[in-house]
Order: sequence, then C-alpha cells, then structure tokens
Amino acid sequence: MKLCIDPGHGGQDSGAVGFGTEEDDVALAVALMLKSAAERQGWAVKMTRVGEMYPTLQTRCAIANEWGADLFVSVHFDQLDNPAAHGCSVLYVSDKGRALAGHIYDRMQPLTPLPDRGLSRRPGLAVLNGTRMPAVIVEGGFISNSQEHALMVNPSWQALEAEAICRGICDHLGVAYRAAGPTPTPVPAPSRSHAVIVVHADAATADRLLAWANGGASLGPALWPLASASASVECRDAKARIADAAKAAAGALGRH
Ligand SMILES: [Zn+2]
Repeated sequence: MKLCIDPGHGGQDSGAVGFGTEEDDVALAVALMLKSAAERQGWAVKMTRVGEMYPTLQTRCAIANEWGADLFVSVHFDQLDNPAAHGCSVLYVSDKGRALAGHIYDRMQPLTPLPDRGLSRRPGLAVLNGTRMPAVIVEGGFISNSQEHALMVNPSWQALEAEAICRGICDHLGVAYRAAGPTPTPVPAPSRSHAVIVVHADAATADRLLAWANGGASLGPALWPLASASASVECRDAKARIADAAKAAAGALGRH
C-alpha cells in the first residue's frame, strides 16, 4: 500500500492562523506522526513536504500521481472569523474518496469535543481534483476556536489525531491496526451532554475523571477529549459539573 501524505500549506503560506499558531506547523506535526503510524503498518509513504517549504498544489498532485500512490491524505485545520465555529470534517470529490473520508471521519470525530461538521463533497479543491487515486482533505478542527486550538497544539492530541487517521485508513482497507506499544484507552463515543458522556464512561474512567475534577490527579491524554466534551455544555464551572456527573456515573455503576 502506497500512501501519499500532504501536510497542508507551508513556507510562505502559513494557512490559517489562530492564537499565534500557524496551520502549516500543526499540519506538518500531525502529518509526520501519521507517517510513523503508516510505516508501522508496513505501508510505503511519500510526503509532499517535510519542512518549511511550499510545493504548489499542482506539484503535490504530481508527486502522488507519478509515484503511483494508492491513497492521498492531505492534513489541514480550519479557520473562520466566528470564534465559535468548530468541529472536524473530511473533504472528498470522488465516490472512492467518499468511502475513505467516511472511515477516517468516524475515527477522528471523537477527538474534537464540540459537534463536528461531517463529510463534505468539495469539487473545487485542486488536490482532490488533480490526484488520480482516492483522495481526502482532513480538517482536524478550528484553529480559530479556543477549545479546539488548545487540543491541536498539544503533541499528545496530535498523536491521537494521527492515529485516528491511520486507523480510519486501516478500516478502509479492512486490515487490523498495528498500535505502537500498549493499546491506548479507547475514547468513548462522543455525546453532547456532560452527564450523559460521563455516564457512558465505565466506572474506572468515571473514577479517574472524578479524581481529576477534585484536583487530586492528572488526566491522561486519552481522557482529554472526554473531559473537554464533558465541559463543553457549561464551561464556567466545568470541573464541578464533571465531578457531579462522574459521581453519579460511578454511583450508577455500583461504586461509591
Ligand atoms: Zn488548510
């Protein structure tokens, strides 16, 4: 399997900017982690860029086409003037691209705490039109949204994002994902109510969230999306609400 990975923008094109962070830098970080994950699956990987450079969109397509890539994944983050805009999405043009987009989206979606934007057919985008293999553009959330920005600059979240993309590709290919080291704690399916999210967690997870909300424990990266999602309903006293919900969840599950 030959995977071409395209870190969006680069060089003089910073892409979107939010809170002093440039999209091209975050895209490259995630793309390099995706490269490692893909190589662990035994796939051949070609990058359209590996540093601060700007290959034109036509060059990016040519790199993938001339190499004979089987799949093309372009890594981006979104921006809008409205700071409340949020959510990940995956863009495609062809029917085969749509199938790949769906698999990747299903894996990415739990990593952003706010409701996501889904799949979008975007016929006007050069790297989707100019590539001959199934191609997608992954938009991993909004750099202009403070909550999502805080996630995307965190290397642990970036690793989860790269893993999610790689797992989505594995799903698309119908092959098992080869994890690095111990299998990370699965992120529960997202819900939009903090109480429901925590109730969906198992007793051990509820206990860990409770300990974190009470200030007595650190929260591992695998639980950040859960805590963020839990907090998204009511940000002002999020920790107290998570504590209430975690207590209720642990109680409902026969603990405490
Ligand atoms: Zn972009």
